[in-house]
Amino acid sequence: MKKDPLFRKVNTTAHGVHHRFGGDFHEQRNGKLQRESEETRLPMRGKARRGLDYTPLFRFLLSKVGANWNEVHAEAVSRLDRPDPIFWLVAIRSSDEKEYVRTGEASYFSGLRVDEQGRLQIVNPSLGPSSLAPLCACCTHTFNGVRFTQAFDLALRPDVSALRLM
Ligand SMILES: [Zn+2]
Repeated sequence: MKKDPLFRKVNTTAHGVHHRFGGDFHEQRNGKLQRESEETRLPMRGKARRGLDYTPLFRFLLSKVGANWNEVHAEAVSRLDRPDPIFWLVAIRSSDEKEYVRTGEASYFSGLRVDEQGRLQIVNPSLGPSSLAPLCACCTHTFNGVRFTQAFDLALRPDVSALRLM
């Protein structure tokens, strides 16, 4: 049985960036969320390959938490145009582990890792749609495909003047 690809083509005009300000959150060791500048945000500045959306891959990987990594990896590779996007979410080395990954303008997914038994795991399973605050009022922010529960808070914005232009 031929399985569907884990990526899809997107209409880039409908997917364009409509505001460029803002940054990203970075959770510090003390648990506080700190903003990162756009410059330091990794790993997906823009989209490496415009016009391809790997959301189906991210959902596939999440659905395989607990499964054998080698099998998950082999299936993912067979259904992708290139392997790189797998490692946007999955850290092979512990030093690369991320609690969450921003995969689009307002899309976030859990960071994943491979445990000692060779199984795919979530880096921080306690992180969910209530963990992060939206960066703007105009986009629907999602975590693992679920809408953020926190409302956008103007007071948290570092650049309120830019927002007034919207
Ligand atoms: Zn927005």
